[in-house]
Amino acid sequence: MIAKELAQKVLAEALRTGADLAEIYVEDVVSLQLGLEDSKIEQAVRGADRGAGVRVFFGNLVTYAYTDTLDETSLMNAARAAAAAGSGSSQTRVIDLTERKSPLKYPVEIAFETMSIQEKANLLGKMDETARAYHPAIVQVNASYLELRRHMWLFNSAGVQVEDDRSYTEMRGGVIARRNGTLQSVREGFGGRMGLELLSRNDALGKMHEIAETAVKMLDARPCPAGEMPVVMCNGWGGVLFHEACGHQMEADFITKGSSAYTGKVGQQIANPIITAIDDGTIAGRRGSLAFDDDGTPAQRTVLIEKGILKEYMWDLVEARRVGRESSTGNGRRESYRHMPMPRMTNTFIDRGEHDPQEIIESVKRGVYIQSMAGGQADIAKGDYVFNATVAYLIEDGKLTTPLRGATIFGNGPKTLMQIDMVGNDLALDPGMGTCGKGQAARVSVGQPTLRIPAATVGGTDEPVSGM
Ligand SMILES: [Zn+2]
Repeated sequence: MIAKELAQKVLAEALRTGADLAEIYVEDVVSLQLGLEDSKIEQAVRGADRGAGVRVFFGNLVTYAYTDTLDETSLMNAARAAAAAGSGSSQTRVIDLTERKSPLKYPVEIAFETMSIQEKANLLGKMDETARAYHPAIVQVNASYLELRRHMWLFNSAGVQVEDDRSYTEMRGGVIARRNGTLQSVREGFGGRMGLELLSRNDALGKMHEIAETAVKMLDARPCPAGEMPVVMCNGWGGVLFHEACGHQMEADFITKGSSAYTGKVGQQIANPIITAIDDGTIAGRRGSLAFDDDGTPAQRTVLIEKGILKEYMWDLVEARRVGRESSTGNGRRESYRHMPMPRMTNTFIDRGEHDPQEIIESVKRGVYIQSMAGGQADIAKGDYVFNATVAYLIEDGKLTTPLRGATIFGNGPKTLMQIDMVGNDLALDPGMGTCGKGQAARVSVGQPTLRIPAATVGGTDEPVSGM
């Protein structure tokens, strides 16, 4: 953290060559990461990183310089470096900073320090034992723990002074089951913007048992049939499809560049009217939640699609200024003080609908139910996607029957949004371990209720994955 007087001095220096806005972003990060493999703690890393970035705006030209030391000389040098792009000159301004407080509170109920490193490592050991004890087919187990505190302060020459003290806890587990020549891997976890209360709200050992059970069950899976058929996607994690294949296209940088399918479509129907989609950075305890974004804008809830109509994009400060908007939507995020913010999602989900999830499954005569998805790929500009399911079932006469291996679903995000014809009443967000990569890593949540895509393209194990 730097003193307010120093912030004023640095901002004044950054404005000296004629900029219309200057900003200092200061960050202090501490972390602990523990990793277990082959029943041993293989990794125990304490991290610490702090620094500051100075950003200077000359209209739509934005320059940035950062430093990993917070003394006055380094900060003033960063300010001069960022200001060097300017050719004008202005008189020294007195910058009036007023601290804004957020009404959003994300309290840490149980501090990281209440458990020793040894106790945290012991928990990973018990997770390992739980998975191995479930079945002799479990041949590999890993588990990891992460705690991270990322405290940011932001000052700008428009008078903004804010801070956001962000704490995150994450637990992950993975197993590999083997029978004869067949291997099945399943990974899951949970996390959130919170302290160790995460561990009392979730059952780490129960989760490992469940993962092991799924992996063993999936050893009996048969290859997924290929072709066009109805697909029912699970609630929670299933929302990763919307995030990747549609959400990115609603980020303002793709909109102003004109590279998104949704450019110029506000007010138009882009989805089936049963679909409402929201980006909400204000949900308590969620991984993508913020008090202020990394531009210093208060986090907010933004309705992206309302009953099928495109309502709004996700804006950061740079893109909002570019089009002359009064303010952004609080979606400016950066990986660290080494990066400039860009428009990013926070917690993004398709809202609840009317159907009972059971009714959705029962509506399908023959199709595929996707219960959990591994990674996928999406072309952000076009929205073409390929997602791989780790756990899927055949639906026959309205019932889940055989577990399926290698199920892959492909299609186009904007088209899929028009096709989805049933939305469940079981909205859930993912368990809290999603990281979005868009040049920079950002913690996000995704979510949705159970959904039906009446005719999706499914690829099986025997089918080559193509079309991307
Ligand atoms: Zn993403």
